[in-house]
Amino acid sequence: MHEFGVAAAVLDAVEARAGGRPVSALRLHVGALQRLDRDVFDSAFGMVADGTVASGAAVEVVEVAVEVACRGCGGSTTADELVVSCGHCGGHDLELRSGDDLVLESITLTDTRTEQEVG
Ligand SMILES: [Zn+2]
Repeated sequence: MHEFGVAAAVLDAVEARAGGRPVSALRLHVGALQRLDRDVFDSAFGMVADGTVASGAAVEVVEVAVEVACRGCGGSTTADELVVSCGHCGGHDLELRSGDDLVLESITLTDTRTEQEVG
């Protein structure tokens, strides 16, 4: 399942960042194209994080809209799903700018309650 792969990847990033310290919360930027099912992801992350530094951590997901740039007219189009034609000229020569993101933005450590910016 997609959500389990994402959860495992997120946990890897969290563990690398936490350096063995317990994590109380984390924030993700997830592109709309990831089609992440929040309920499935929450339970998947709860399972993979069980017994790790991120066990019981609160997960906040910030959804990132899809944005494409048109090579025809130079305009950009945003949507919450895959864009197949330019919103300005109707052209199909599009470049994906965002929407497939999967970024660990920050973690909050249980001890210090300070957020650590990632990346
Ligand atoms: Zn266009």
